[in-house]
This record gives sequence, structure tokens and C-alpha cells, in this order.
Amino acid sequence: MGIEVLIKSELTRREAFLNAKGSLRERDAMSMQGIAMPTLPPMPEGALEIPGEFITAAVSAKIYRMIGSAYGTRAAQRALAEQPVTAAGIEEAREYVSSLMDVDLSTVMVEVVPNSKWGDSGAEGIHFKAGLDQHLIVMPSYVASAIEVLVHEFGHAAHAIKQRQNGEYPFFFTADSTVELISHYCQYHYIVERLSRDHLLIALGQLTTASYALSIQASGTKDFDHYEASGAAAEPLRSMSIDMLQSTHAAFCENQAYYFSEVFRGISLMLALLLLDENEGMRRYASLDRVDRRLQDKLSDAFAGKDALMSFSKINERIEELLERCS
Ligand SMILES: [Zn+2]
Repeated sequence: MGIEVLIKSELTRREAFLNAKGSLRERDAMSMQGIAMPTLPPMPEGALEIPGEFITAAVSAKIYRMIGSAYGTRAAQRALAEQPVTAAGIEEAREYVSSLMDVDLSTVMVEVVPNSKWGDSGAEGIHFKAGLDQHLIVMPSYVASAIEVLVHEFGHAAHAIKQRQNGEYPFFFTADSTVELISHYCQYHYIVERLSRDHLLIALGQLTTASYALSIQASGTKDFDHYEASGAAAEPLRSMSIDMLQSTHAAFCENQAYYFSEVFRGISLMLALLLLDENEGMRRYASLDRVDRRLQDKLSDAFAGKDALMSFSKINERIEELLERCS
């Protein structure tokens, strides 16, 4: 498959989605009918390799507990209150990400879907890649921290637009390890600049499952008893209930795709937090992100001389520092 065929199929799918009626799930299924799945470019050996030092159990019990207890507070309840997705909110998010990533997002479409049609999609917002810059963001009409969610989705659009400006086929794909990097970088940046400590703690809820998956990967075993006895389990065991750890572990074992998406999400989230002040580097990363190059090589090109910043062992002090910086 070449670029033209890929773009044509993405735009056809977008049109079919926009014209379809029914729930989000039904429209999504209808839009996929007759659409050819894009084929990856040739992948050199080791292209999807992850640096070994990223496979860690670095998140501390203290941070897990801070995230876990955030949900119960009144301030968190306020941060979680549903807000309407408005035209003004959409433009605020578009402008924020456009200036943060230095990219024109004026061609990105946003469709707002009534919550009754949103159903149990599991997502707060969705981004469909379409062509060079014809991407589509779909949002429910009410969602917690609406502009923050929009910033996240525009972050996905900014990532794809910057990649695709290169005009070569491998830039039309993103490796699982960084598919959530730019979107979370934009989201965390927005929270630290304009929202509150509670918003950040709630957004970090995702880090709990993701870094738990990373710690299982770091333990080198998929057997729960062996995991429990390994050093990698120490911090999760000190901060979360054994029932929760066991049931999540079972869910990972049942669904390998889910497990690996969480492992990779963990890497994206930690890099976004550690590199949150590297604005130029993030823009460079989005521009050079092609699926057929190793993560390590792309990171060292985008963040030259910043290896120390990428140390996952510093994630706990980094999170505390960012929480302090929230207004
Ligand atoms: Zn995302």
C-alpha cells in the first residue's frame, strides 16, 4: 500500500463515519466496511525494540497512594464534574496545542456526539487519522475536564500532522511505544499550566495500571506468585490491594494486546512527564517519528544531550515536582 491509497481509505472511512447514523459503536463498525487495513512499511530488525532501562518498576508506593486517594476528595469530585464540550472550549484547545506544538490545526474537524449515542466506548474522546491534516476528533457532549480531553485529542492530531509533513510512508504510522507520547505531553502541559493539582492526580490514574503492567514486564514472569515474590512487585504490593493486583493481572493474562498496550502506555506517560519542559524536543520528536526507526535513536535525535532527563528512576520526584507546580 502506498500513501495515496492509505489517504484515500482514511478519508473514505471518515466520510462513512460522519454520514452513518446510530451509536458511536455502530457508526464505527459501519465506517470500517470495505476499508482496506493499512499495511506497515518494511520494518528493519529491532525497529520496535524498547530500551531496556525503560522496563522498570520505578513508581513508588507513595505515588501510587497519592493517585489512589485523590479520587475520594471533594476537590477531585469538582475536577471530575462533567462539563459541556463547547465551541469556545474546542477553539481554546485547538489554539493551545497549535502554539505548543507549532503546527496549524485549523483543518482538524471536531464532531460532538450526544452522550446517549456515546455508549460504553470506554474513551473520553477519539481521534481518527485522516490524510495529511484532515483528522477528525469525536467527543461526547458532556465529559469531565472537557478542554483537557480536547487538548489530548488535538495532541494526537498535532503528532500525526507533523509526522505526515515528511511525505514518506513510514511517517504515516506510529509505534505503540509512543502513540500516547505527544497527546499526554500536551495534556499534562495544559494541566500544569492552567488546571489544578487534583486534575493532575486524576489524569495520573492511567499511570497506575500502566506502570503496574511495566512492573510485571520488569519482573520477567507472567506467573502471579512469582511476580509477587519478585522485587518488581514491592511498591505495588505496599500500596494496592492484593485483590486489585490479582484481578488486573488476570485481565492482562487473558488479553495480551491489552497488557502490551498498557506496558507501552507506561513508557509514553513516563517520558511525557520527565520531558514535559522540553518543548522544542517534543516538536522535533513528532516531526521525526517514523515507525521503522528505533525509539532510542529517535529520542536521542529529538532530545540530544538530555539522556539524564529520561531516567525512569526519577519519576517519583518528578511527579511531586509537577504537582507542586500546579496552581
Ligand atoms: Zn490518547
